[in-house]
Amino acid sequence: MSYPVRGEEPVIVEALKVRALPEGGCDKLLEFLRLYRDAVQSVVDRIWGINEGLSKKKLHRLFYSDLVKLGFRAHHAKEVYLYARSLVDSARGSGGRKPVLRRLSARVDRYDYRLDLDSMTLTLKLHSNYEVRLRLVASKERVERFEGWSNYELVVKYDGRSFWVSVYFRRAVKAVKPRTVMAIDLNFDNVTLAVFTLDGRLLRLKRFKTPHRRVLTHRMWIERIQGRYPRSWRFTKGVRRAIERHGERIRSISWDYAHKLGELVAELALEYRSLIILEDLEKLKENGKRDRKFNKRLGLWFYRRVQFCVEYEAMERGLQVAKVNPRGTSSRCPRCGGKLLEDGYRVLRCRRCGFIGDRDVIATVNLYRRYVSRYSRCGGLGVPLNAPKLDEILSGMRGNRDEVMTASTYMNLYGN
Ligand SMILES: [Zn+2]
Repeated sequence: MSYPVRGEEPVIVEALKVRALPEGGCDKLLEFLRLYRDAVQSVVDRIWGINEGLSKKKLHRLFYSDLVKLGFRAHHAKEVYLYARSLVDSARGSGGRKPVLRRLSARVDRYDYRLDLDSMTLTLKLHSNYEVRLRLVASKERVERFEGWSNYELVVKYDGRSFWVSVYFRRAVKAVKPRTVMAIDLNFDNVTLAVFTLDGRLLRLKRFKTPHRRVLTHRMWIERIQGRYPRSWRFTKGVRRAIERHGERIRSISWDYAHKLGELVAELALEYRSLIILEDLEKLKENGKRDRKFNKRLGLWFYRRVQFCVEYEAMERGLQVAKVNPRGTSSRCPRCGGKLLEDGYRVLRCRRCGFIGDRDVIATVNLYRRYVSRYSRCGGLGVPLNAPKLDEILSGMRGNRDEVMTASTYMNLYGN
């Protein structure tokens, strides 16, 4: 998990989830978790009927002293009413009913625990001045990763058998000041990325195959099996297993691909000090009809996954990511804005001005231009950006055509 850029300094947040063994019995910890849950519930019950928005100050005034009387520490109390408010807000936001808490889980502020990663122990401060020490069960490698990070909050859970602790770590990364812009176009067959200078010259063009056809093959198998056993597939163990296996393949193919692509893209972007432009998939949904390039049967989940990984890897390297509305980026002429017609395999031609170009490359040019027209004036990059020089891009495109389709780039992602 990660936060978007806050101010100048991007911050990465990640959780370490481990099993925890309380030393000297678990009575007090269980007692704390029950007390905590019931307290959250009682705050939920009371604010459910209040229709105005409740500020932190007001929550404090309403609940603080009661919670402290129950034996909670100051920061416990704060966590309890803030958590209750977030539950109520999200239930209201989705038009749901009043939340009823069953599970035992508590959010604990950094003032109320001591974490020692060397000895893998956690000391929690509980209600009524009790303390409990927990041994954390995790491999050294998983923990080493967080050396030098700060942690600021954790969640303790009891699932009926074991205790679990999720510690939230955060780390600031040094923001990279963008010197170029990288536009990324996703479609069924390819991921195309183009790096532009701030004055619109094309520096680099790269294309990666997507594993969509392989994913669709597994999807087809699933549908075929379901079609053969329309009524019974859900209840027959062997059939369900077969379907699950194809589902697992789909998941691993897509995560694998998304991770590798995310890393490759972010490394390249770091090399060029690029600001990364992605298509805003949410806008695509709002637009009503989806672009043709997104295969209906595949849905948007795959593109979301790829974007998630690209954004994550970019954030880890201090690179900025911007999203633009992709509407029309693969159907409008980058020179005159006219409607483009298909003119052979993956080639589009402008009806109005005669411009001819590669479908995917046109999309990246249009994404770049859309970003430029939206942000250059308000100083997003601090430098005036110019429109891409289309003739250069066209020649660059021809020059790069072979590079982008070489076996190595192809194999990089799609080798096995
Ligand atoms: Zn045109």
